[in-house]
Amino acid sequence: MCSNLNYDLFRVNLTNTPICYCGWHEENVSHYLLECRLYLTQRNNLYYKLHDFSPLDLETLLFGNEEILSEKQNETILLAVQDYIKQTKRFL
Ligand SMILES: [Zn+2]
Repeated sequence: MCSNLNYDLFRVNLTNTPICYCGWHEENVSHYLLECRLYLTQRNNLYYKLHDFSPLDLETLLFGNEEILSEKQNETILLAVQDYIKQTKRFL
């Protein structure tokens, strides 16, 4: 998977460091979505919207789960993750 997160940019020599702006960890997808302390408020909003689906793993956040969840439920997850990405303003 490739993204504009530092971990991915570093792997293709587009940035000098894989470390997140928080300084704590490589900025990979898991860190960005689930761990980074820079986005606590946005993550709380995400979890609030998706509390019906708890516990959520990274795979489900990224790709949904067509085996267990309905199309509408998968759409809800997709839109909530899109909102999270917008609210973090990480890719402006
Ligand atoms: Zn971070």
